[in-house]
Amino acid sequence: MQRSSPLHRAALALSGAVALVAAALAAPDARADRRVVEERCPICATVSGTSIHESQNTAGGVDTDFCAYTLERRADGDRLEATALGRDDVITCPRCLYSALHDHFGQALTDADARKIRETLRTGSPVASRVRAAQAEDGGIAAARRFELAATCYEQAGLARLGATSIDVRLFVGHLWHRAAWCLRERISSESPSLAEIGFRPTTIDDALAGLAAIDAAIARRRAPGAGREDPLAAAIAEVSESRRALAVAERHGPAAARYVASLARDRLAEIADRLRKAQAVMREREALRPEPGAGEGGPDLARFDERTLVVAAVRACHRAGLVQERQVRLLDAQRVASGSERSRSAPDSLLQDQLTRLEGLIQEEDRLLGAARDRYAKILAEGRPGEPTERRRYRFLEADLSRRIGEVDRARGGFASVVAEGREDALGAIAERLLRLVETGR
Ligand SMILES: [Zn+2]
Repeated sequence: MQRSSPLHRAALALSGAVALVAAALAAPDARADRRVVEERCPICATVSGTSIHESQNTAGGVDTDFCAYTLERRADGDRLEATALGRDDVITCPRCLYSALHDHFGQALTDADARKIRETLRTGSPVASRVRAAQAEDGGIAAARRFELAATCYEQAGLARLGATSIDVRLFVGHLWHRAAWCLRERISSESPSLAEIGFRPTTIDDALAGLAAIDAAIARRRAPGAGREDPLAAAIAEVSESRRALAVAERHGPAAARYVASLARDRLAEIADRLRKAQAVMREREALRPEPGAGEGGPDLARFDERTLVVAAVRACHRAGLVQERQVRLLDAQRVASGSERSRSAPDSLLQDQLTRLEGLIQEEDRLLGAARDRYAKILAEGRPGEPTERRRYRFLEADLSRRIGEVDRARGGFASVVAEGREDALGAIAERLLRLVETGR
């Protein structure tokens, strides 16, 4: 059978994803090349095409679950975009939604397989409804949907066609779900301004934490006294002064005891206000002495972004790195900024609220796809496959990291611990050990 050989090759290439971490460091400057492929749909004969990415450039960073990004300038502007490697490998028929890797797409199907796929993708089926519903907003069939469709098609008919017992095929389908999730992560990363523009291109967890700290520092500078509309000290001073005025009123009208209490409180408040004023003067002085933000750091100038951009960037950066708890904290902060502040009398920011709602939706969707990939890897592992111990260890690592990314901390901890127990000297053991420390301590 000729059919299984390209799939076999693809499965091998995909399961070699671990090697991408090494490749990422080796070839950061390679150019991103594209090639357009056109194929005829074996289900409905519609001819469609996609442009295939052939770059090995991973200057956009590599995530802990081996998602490698290529860094490109968009044709329509000067914006850097981090694009997940291989995201265009799938062709989807715009008419019937049949999807497969471009290597397989044009291959003829048996009548039985074609029937099964037609039935799965029929109008009104769960997967077709989901794709069609998102099509208008996505401006076409988004990459994540195409990978999900391909995974569904292979699982419906491709597995039988290509040999359901082949471990390569089943791992390959797991990778398709995984890559569908990567496409959503890419979408989150490349929203404007892209994380690449913000300078967030993590290749290790320490890169990610350092990048997040830089964003946090930029947010803190924006919020420092005199730097932005939010000035907590000034607000506190105003509040205290307001209370003093209120107490003064109580003093004039209340009974003797109340007057006594009010006078005590007034003295205390005067003292607090005085202390706050001194603190504010010290902080202003420090701010004046601080070097220009970004100066001498060699990184991107985060000072050019406003607070709302930075708080959303912090959520997206946590997401990219799989820092689920940190992400929750940053999300609450961003929601607070979006809901406006009574103190500074700013109105709720409905654009920001919408942006956060959409972001949360994408994150949930990515979690669903990561969960699907994780469950497929776990099922294969539970059968004692793949047979090769090094390969099995890689999938245990992936099972742990995907669990971490969807917030299943206990399962992540157990998985990383088992990878570490088998050795910490090699690269995978070292990464697992670092991630184990992260899930245990949050640092
Ligand atoms: Zn078709």
